Amino acid sequence: MGTSGATPLRLLWLQASGCGGCTQSLLGAESRAGVFAQLAASGIELLFHPAVSEASGDEALALLADVAAGRQPVDILCVEGALLRGPNGSGRFHLLSGSGRPMIEWVRELAGRARHVLAIGTCTAFGGINAAGDNVTEACGLQFDADAPGGLLGAGFRAAGGLPVINVAGCPTHPGWIVDTLLSLAAGALGEADLDAWQRPRFYAEQLVHHGCSKNEFYEFKASAQKLSDLGCLMENMGCKGTQAHADCNLRAWNGVGSCIRGGFACIACTEPGFEEPGHPFMETPKVAGIPIGLPIDMPKAWFVALAALSKSATPKRVRENSRADHPVIAPALRKDRRG
Ligand code: SF4
Ligand code: SF4
Repeated sequence: MGTSGATPLRLLWLQASGCGGCTQSLLGAESRAGVFAQLAASGIELLFHPAVSEASGDEALALLADVAAGRQPVDILCVEGALLRGPNGSGRFHLLSGSGRPMIEWVRELAGRARHVLAIGTCTAFGGINAAGDNVTEACGLQFDADAPGGLLGAGFRAAGGLPVINVAGCPTHPGWIVDTLLSLAAGALGEADLDAWQRPRFYAEQLVHHGCSKNEFYEFKASAQKLSDLGCLMENMGCKGTQAHADCNLRAWNGVGSCIRGGFACIACTEPGFEEPGHPFMETPKVAGIPIGLPIDMPKAWFVALAALSKSATPKRVRENSRADHPVIAPALRKDRRG
């Protein structure tokens, strides 16, 4: 257990092929939430992180070699970024700087030493943006290749603590998802039953982005944005997948205030395997006969069509006009008779 006073959980963070955005996301929460103090208070000790540790060069490589050889125990291995297996499975598209060895070799060795292995972000979980297009770098996730089990470590991998790779998916991932996963591990409160079918922690993956969205009144009436900057719901025309994407982005605001949608952009379902290849421009909704292809999860098509027709026929003028403006142009009416 990693609670205060007990042996700390030693955390090692590696960056494989990615933009570093998940680390930036975590650091973005530092000033508001004091992430590293929170981790320390929960008994998690940072052994090394390439962006925040003083150690670099030979010193960092020596530490990694000690972990790989079993001389330095490690409890939690966080890997950020996709694993590049190319060319031809050699991994030599990405050598760990100064070591002359492919990153995938390091990751295999270090994952074999850690009690828990976390894939930080969708690249590490499923391949993500790195695996888009022809995937010439042979990018994959730690334990998945898009939605197919396998990846770098293989479908049967279990860390020493008994869990498969924990996929803290998101592009970038939410700082709260990382911290809550780590704190749950420190409390001994995260088991295999707490992961969904894609090994994402259920505490955030069993929500939909649609839950708590500030545009829900527009959604109810199918009062849709026609262009970027319109206030209306982004599903019908602007590519929003919030009704299908598993995450709590609108319940657990980013940095206490925002989300993609609150910033005016559609949810592109970045927590899902294969999100990088939607088969259409991200900010457009593909349709057949005027009906969006990607319907809300759990909703049969016929119901959606019937509900949409009914909703549109009953849309209040205020909701319709506001949905097509970049600021509210009609305020809610005042109710004069308060007895009802
Ligand atoms: S913008 Fe997206 S998440 Fe928000 S209400 Fe519309 S469909 Fe739901
Ligand atoms: S709103 Fe959608 S695209 Fe944005 S971070 Fe959440 S899951 Fe990803």
